[in-house]
Amino acid sequence: MTIALAVHGGAGSVPEELIPYRKEGLAQALEAGWQLLGKGKDALSAVVAAVEVMESLPQFNAGYGSSLTDEGRVEMDAGVMTGDGLHVGAVAAVSRIAHPIRLAAEVLHSRHILLAGSGAETFATIRGLPLVDPADLISRRRQRLWEARQRGEQGAALTDDAGKTIQVVQDTVGAVALDNAGHLAAATSTGGMSWKSPGRIGDSPIVGAGFYADDALGAVSTTGWGETIARSLLAYQAVSRLEQYTPEESARRALQFLERKTQGWAGLVLISAKGEISVAWNTKTMGYAYRREGEAATVYS
Ligand code: ASP
Repeated sequence: MTIALAVHGGAGSVPEELIPYRKEGLAQALEAGWQLLGKGKDALSAVVAAVEVMESLPQFNAGYGSSLTDEGRVEMDAGVMTGDGLHVGAVAAVSRIAHPIRLAAEVLHSRHILLAGSGAETFATIRGLPLVDPADLISRRRQRLWEARQRGEQGAALTDDAGKTIQVVQDTVGAVALDNAGHLAAATSTGGMSWKSPGRIGDSPIVGAGFYADDALGAVSTTGWGETIARSLLAYQAVSRLEQYTPEESARRALQFLERKTQGWAGLVLISAKGEISVAWNTKTMGYAYRREGEAATVYS
């Protein structure tokens, strides 16, 4: 059986100066997941490991460095799915978890599929995951953006921790994998849209919207304008089209569906049951990286 892995760092528009950081993070995430797949570990472990790397890095909108609500707080969503048995785990609106994707994987192994807010955080302690101070998840860059917005400088270019110019971007992360037992998994993690209302839950923890995996067809992780992704069930649209179309055509047609029905914007990474990889987006750009057995890694941002 072949192994394959694809990761993404969100769809949107990225200032030139941030591109090297994003590429570096994507390459690190790919490597973390690839190491596990290479050792014969399962697709779920690989996507969780890859996403955890990006949740640790401030250049992505997930875990540490998540975008902030309009009240200046972090509220994160994440979801995972395995294609063998269609198992799902997701968490929504969590603020005290360093790795929401790890918690989502714990939910996958419980009797529920989605836990939100303080209930999800209580569940984390039951499962032995540490709770962190929500303030520790706020990067300096996000804090500065929020402060600028409070001063009425919405969308203004600012400088990041390294003194470089940055803008508000969407950098949700995700991964899809095929393991050597032929099983698929998909994972997505995000801080959500910048300046969202407290309590807003996007597409990322919604099965069929932010992620989907079915061993018979393929697996998808999505990113972009969550409300439109959820209304069009973008991940499921792409996976279900694999019954009829090539991976490229399926990804393209699913995005067209979202655009036509909701006028939304989004991106997705897709892996087929055979390990073919396709990436599509209708935003200015999208960061991604992928690797298939016997091939070198590709990193794009
Ligand atoms: N889809 C995410 C959300 O709406 C944001 C993103 O992908 O950048 O919460």
